[in-house]
Amino acid sequence: MGKLNVAMLRYLTREDFRVLTAIEMGMKNHELVPATLAASIANLHHGGVHKILKELCKHRLLSYERGKHYDGYRLTNTGYDYLALKTLTSRQLISSFGNQIGVGKESNIYVVADPEDKPICLKLHRLGRTCFRNLKEKRDYHAHRHKAGWLYLSRISATKEFAYMEALAKRDFPVPKPIDINRHCVLMELVNGHPLSRLYEVDNVENLYDDLMNLIVRFAQHGVIHGDFNEFNIMINDEEKPIVIDFPQMVSVTHANAKMYFDRDVKCIRAFFKKRFSYESHLYPIFEDIVREEFLDVEVSASGFTKNMDQFLLQELGMVDSVEEVSGEESDFYENEKDEVEHLAERVAELMKEESSEVLGNSTIPPAQEMSDNVKSD
Ligand code: ADP
Ligand code: MG
Repeated sequence: MGKLNVAMLRYLTREDFRVLTAIEMGMKNHELVPATLAASIANLHHGGVHKILKELCKHRLLSYERGKHYDGYRLTNTGYDYLALKTLTSRQLISSFGNQIGVGKESNIYVVADPEDKPICLKLHRLGRTCFRNLKEKRDYHAHRHKAGWLYLSRISATKEFAYMEALAKRDFPVPKPIDINRHCVLMELVNGHPLSRLYEVDNVENLYDDLMNLIVRFAQHGVIHGDFNEFNIMINDEEKPIVIDFPQMVSVTHANAKMYFDRDVKCIRAFFKKRFSYESHLYPIFEDIVREEFLDVEVSASGFTKNMDQFLLQELGMVDSVEEVSGEESDFYENEKDEVEHLAERVAELMKEESSEVLGNSTIPPAQEMSDNVKSD
């Protein structure tokens, strides 16, 4: 378990980041990125790159591994975190880092401060590495697909979450206000409240139950199902009003198993209210009764989160039961190595330009009191 010491963001040089980014790029179609490839993509001298690679390994931003056919480098979780945090910091969205507040099934959650020193929420998506559900099928499935499995999955998970939060917030659903996204990191409003799982006393149990059922109905009227609507993904504020979080597994009402997921969400709430508050109601929503107003998921897929990506993600999250063939977004991408290197080198140069000026070696990165001790990575 490497520690994430954000102070190091300040000490890494521009060239360090260039090499780190080159490894990220190389991983799009190499499980391990050989030093020579890293050097070409980073467009730096071979000798210099070696030293930097070694340094990055020492700080556990990269790992060096022996593969079947060749040896090479891969990005660690910490390395990927750095790239994203550096970008978000250079966009002046984060002024300091705070504590970890949650470890979800598929994420780590932190409090950070925005430039006005207001606490906001940072969610780092972590997919494809720690989850052992359906491991065998997944292994068979992924064997033919992405080599950069966890990078890609974590990134599309964050992309989907952000797109749904935007679409839902726009329609005045009670969700955290999305702020920004980069790679696998989503910045959002910090909800002022506690998970429903920690609520033991409630002023008006019937109202809360109705609010939650109405939310399930409203989702469906807009063409979507939350898919994991349980006491851990519903926050309750001081007014006893729910705020819904956690969206990577959302599905369309046109999904083959839509009714099953809808009923499961309803059942989850009913079971919780019965057990926790001894509250049972004969009123609950029926999937077939819901009148569609729109299909919000269409807007989301128009925003760049494609059906293909969704298929991939839902597969990982266990929300698809048949393995439909999805064409890889990034795998069968490059025709030959030369084009690839040129393309990647250009991309790295672009990324460096985007993120350049502000960050390195100056004060936009806060002193890292904090994250260092609590942050787990890898
Ligand atoms: P996962 O997908 O890993 O389950 P969640 O989005 O459900 O991740 O977040 C995990 C936990 O972190 C939640 O149960 C909640 O306690 C906390 N959390 C997540 N987002 C926020 C937020 N915006 N504000 C406050 N707490 C949050
Ligand atoms: Mg959750």
